[in-house]
Amino acid sequence: MPQILIEDLNSSPSDKLAGGGSSFDNLVEATYEMAKKILPFLARRKIPLTPENYRIFYDYFLLLKPDLSKKIDELLESNCRFSPEISEEILRDYYQSDDDQVANVERFSERIAKVSEALNKNLGQTLDNTSSFRDFLTNTVNQISLSVMEDSSLKYLVDNILEETLSTLSSQNDLASHLAKTRQLVSSLTTELKDQARLANVDELTQLYNRRFFINSLNRFITPEGVNQLLSMVILDLDRFKTINDTWGHNIGDKVLIFCAKIIKSAAGEKHMAVRYGGEEFVLLCPGLESAGAKAVAETIRGQVESTQVTIRGAAIPVTISGGVSQYRSGDTVEEFIGRADKALYQAKADGRNQIKEG
Ligand code: GH3
Ligand code: MG
Ligand code: MG
Repeated sequence: MPQILIEDLNSSPSDKLAGGGSSFDNLVEATYEMAKKILPFLARRKIPLTPENYRIFYDYFLLLKPDLSKKIDELLESNCRFSPEISEEILRDYYQSDDDQVANVERFSERIAKVSEALNKNLGQTLDNTSSFRDFLTNTVNQISLSVMEDSSLKYLVDNILEETLSTLSSQNDLASHLAKTRQLVSSLTTELKDQARLANVDELTQLYNRRFFINSLNRFITPEGVNQLLSMVILDLDRFKTINDTWGHNIGDKVLIFCAKIIKSAAGEKHMAVRYGGEEFVLLCPGLESAGAKAVAETIRGQVESTQVTIRGAAIPVTISGGVSQYRSGDTVEEFIGRADKALYQAKADGRNQIKEG
């Protein structure tokens, strides 16, 4: 029987997230598509590419906020330059709720991180040979605009930044050190943005995706036209977890959650998305699987949780988990899809726990 010493378990932020890779890739695709719209637009209108403006125009193009769109139309009509003061005012007026703020930082971070990565890669090469800088520059700019954007907006931006750099620097040494600093800056910006995106999407204790990311992903899968592939989910809930907390304390309870999350994450692999849905509830979102397939994955998790002997200071803690499965049906709302899994979970509990039911 596999054994796990609960004292050894720690939440490890360096754990790689399992599952959801494909939905993240879709997000990156969307990043490019959106950047292709926003960047030329801002460049044409000479609106500064600041995080605030990018965020505002992202929503403007997505038509997420009708009031905001109306306001922007008015400002554009009056040839507004979107100074930092104006942008701040718009953010204050139209982005009051916390959720809006987090969601937008997250969206912005993912998108800008991708662009920064491209810049960083190219700037890195620059440092190797400053003497052929001008040639390199032309190539880099061409490469970036070819590989990242088909239009000339990024070229325009990079051109401007680098042209300015060239005109203000007199010697090759200055140039090299300036570029080194720029590179460092872009690199730390990239890291920071990635961390931010991660924090917004990931549960700190278990390092699984959080509920908000799950709901956002579901809303991306389930469009008004429906879902164009099989999609199932499992809601998993630890059995009698309150008793574990009451007997061993909250800290040990947390470690039991980490233990279960690790099993769920490893069963999810790259194909499925593992989520901490709430306190001691998890969700596995399984694209490409019908109910029976998702149930099989859930059974693996259930079996592994049951058969691993969890010990604390030499004493065994019995840990089991129950689950409810649902498969997306044409016309389902997100709530109906989740509701069926929830109902099946309830049935699994009512029938004695430590089992998986299909809804
Ligand atoms: P059931 O088998 O019916 O699911 O019983 P249960 O005891 O697992 O369910 P109940 O909803 O009564 O209790 C859930 C407990 O989970 C209560 C709450 O204190 C605990 N909990 C929620 N979040 C956390 C957490 O982050 N850490 C710890 N240690 N406990 C948590
Ligand atoms: Mg529960
Ligand atoms: Mg429970």
